[in-house]
Amino acid sequence: MLTTLKRIVQEINQIPALDTALFRLASRVKQTLSVDSCSIYLADYEKQEFVLKATDGLHPDAVEQVKIGFSEGLIGLVGQREEPLNIVNAHTHPRFKHYPEVQEEAYNGFLGTPIIHQRRVLGVITLQQGDMRRFSEDEEAFLVTLAAQLALEITNADMRGALNNTTSNDPIPTQKNVSGIPGSPGLAIGRGASSEKSVKLKNWVVKRTTSPAEEIKIYRRGVELTRAHVDALSQRLDDGIPDDVKSIFQLYHHLLDANSLGREVEEKIRGGWDAASSLKMVVENYAARFEAMDDPYMQERAIDIVDLSDRILMYIVTEAKGHSVVETPVYDESILVAEEVSANMLAEFPREKLKGIISIRGSNNSHAAILARAMGVPAVMGCQNVSPSLLEGKEILIDGYAGEIIVSPERHIKLEFAQLIEEEAAVAQRIEADVDKPCESEDGCRMALYINAGLSAEVEINAGQIGSGIGLYRTEIPFMLRERFPSELEQVELYRQVLASAPSLPITMRTLDVGGDKPLPYFPINEENPFLGWRGVRLTLDHPEIFLVQVRAMLKASVGLDNLQIMLPMISSVSEVKEAKRLVNQAYFEISDELKAKHVKLHRPKLGIMLEVPSVLYQLPQLAKHVDFFSVGSNDLTQYLLAVDRNNTRVASLYNCYHPAVLGALFDIVKQANQNQVPVTICGELAGEPGGAILLMGMGYRRLSMSAFNIRKINWLIRNVSLEESKQLLSLALTSSCHSEVFEHVNQYLETKGLGGLVRAGA
Ligand code: PEP
Ligand code: MG
Repeated sequence: MLTTLKRIVQEINQIPALDTALFRLASRVKQTLSVDSCSIYLADYEKQEFVLKATDGLHPDAVEQVKIGFSEGLIGLVGQREEPLNIVNAHTHPRFKHYPEVQEEAYNGFLGTPIIHQRRVLGVITLQQGDMRRFSEDEEAFLVTLAAQLALEITNADMRGALNNTTSNDPIPTQKNVSGIPGSPGLAIGRGASSEKSVKLKNWVVKRTTSPAEEIKIYRRGVELTRAHVDALSQRLDDGIPDDVKSIFQLYHHLLDANSLGREVEEKIRGGWDAASSLKMVVENYAARFEAMDDPYMQERAIDIVDLSDRILMYIVTEAKGHSVVETPVYDESILVAEEVSANMLAEFPREKLKGIISIRGSNNSHAAILARAMGVPAVMGCQNVSPSLLEGKEILIDGYAGEIIVSPERHIKLEFAQLIEEEAAVAQRIEADVDKPCESEDGCRMALYINAGLSAEVEINAGQIGSGIGLYRTEIPFMLRERFPSELEQVELYRQVLASAPSLPITMRTLDVGGDKPLPYFPINEENPFLGWRGVRLTLDHPEIFLVQVRAMLKASVGLDNLQIMLPMISSVSEVKEAKRLVNQAYFEISDELKAKHVKLHRPKLGIMLEVPSVLYQLPQLAKHVDFFSVGSNDLTQYLLAVDRNNTRVASLYNCYHPAVLGALFDIVKQANQNQVPVTICGELAGEPGGAILLMGMGYRRLSMSAFNIRKINWLIRNVSLEESKQLLSLALTSSCHSEVFEHVNQYLETKGLGGLVRAGA
């Protein structure tokens, strides 16, 4: 059954147009389960009705004609109850409604299952039979499993159909709205620029061709290039390679042989599919056959086949068509689209042409989103229903406030959007005009604003004001961009640059915080739960050699500038602080002694910890005895308090720093820090958000650290609100039942102060 299921889902996935896919689905299910009829109805939310979209068993003329209200008939009942309905005789059911067009008089037994995606009923799939009997448990389980798997496929097929205008004769592309997660605020208009490195068979949308001879040439060229690549790879590995690796290369060679995969692919091309699509169809079929085998070794081979074919595909769409493999198309106004946007990709992309970012995976607090905010580029994350190849070259509008994109917008929508962008620029100008004024609320509460740097140091430091200093310098990004650990000397040079960028201001450098969603390419960590695993100080304390080199480099870089502060990430207990402090002291005394001989004094840096693991909330008095300052990492604190992976698109709607429990924890921290007389900063993303900054001021925070791009905005905001009002807002927030209620209070407050333009599109 599982194999049949997989095969059906895969088959549907390969069909570009939704209606064809649904017809195929209906007949495959009918045939597999040997029932008399299978039909699919899809929901039309505007008209509040289900429309019969495909059937094998009811009268074909009824397709698109039969429309059933959301509260009508058995179909409506399945949608309302959101669970399967399995009945012996449909005609006698009180909710049965007769639709003469479908001609279902002969059918008695009825099984209907809702198709649900992200809590939304997309449609209903039904089985019918002449016999007066309930469908068996197996049949019901099959249909439920199929419907669950199909939900995503149907959403994708719908999107493919709408976006893939090459398959339709209509020259005007249809506008399509896609929702994701707000990644970085702002609006942008541009053209989708998708990195071709992310080309994968599974995302490929099949297309027809009218020039098969040309496509065969392209395919052969792709294979030739792949063969050269495989040869080069096997030559690079010496004779000592293990047998299983050798056998993979043998399999690769066999598959690349013209008589194997090639023959079938070329047959498909002659049948009218282009090279890439033919490859996809043949390979996925092969892979499914391997996966279905009992032998786990053979099942694994499915992965090899797909891997190899992904490479052929990449050559087909790039080199075989005359441009380079690594090239990402750059348009004057580009919206960078990728499966997962990385710091590297952003660093490589010409900044002046980058107008927006779309990441298929990831969430609001993925580091890609943080980087986008640091650069002031609007971003939408977690757009699961599209793939990069579908957006390549398309005109796209991005609303980073709402987390939405509009593909191929209609003219009037684009005009409205352009108007909103103008209004946004006007707000930015107002902010800019007051840039040098002190950050003080209407009733005289002084706030110190610091910047978060390190994700892309030059961008941030050049982005504008540095405020009262650097509150968080993330050292991991320079580590991530290299192919090995940077040497002590390389680190000294790098840190010196950063410390010298604001010699009179404190610069807080965080020790290496890798692990979680920040892997080092040369130090792979494979863990089931990376965010609960070996990350931050846990890793560096296990590798004192890495920790010591870094601390030594920081200390050496600080000589004569004396503005260094050191901060430890991911602290969860006092013993970690003691151990790290011992190492910092060891490095300090060593270097200090070395310098003494040269009559140079080494300033002793303040040592602080990040408060981002919930356990520390209950140990603040003990921790206070060992450190000079606290800094709240609200990004991680939120993920750990709410038990929501900050990077997981599926649970992104649950991750929210405005959750009243998170706000309560933050309030507690500042009160305890004050009681213990330890200075506290907050350097999570919340500090740089208008709502967050006001609430934090109300709690008692006086030091906020944020991306440089936000500093002007927050400065302006603070000068236009009062401490007294922020306290009132805070008490409303703390007694709210959920984050959306908090948002309502915050947004209402911002609107009454004329500051709504900071949190939504338009002035
Ligand atoms: C945090 O967790 O809030 C933080 C500032 O650190 P990072 O986002 O780098 O984990
Ligand atoms: Mg953190």
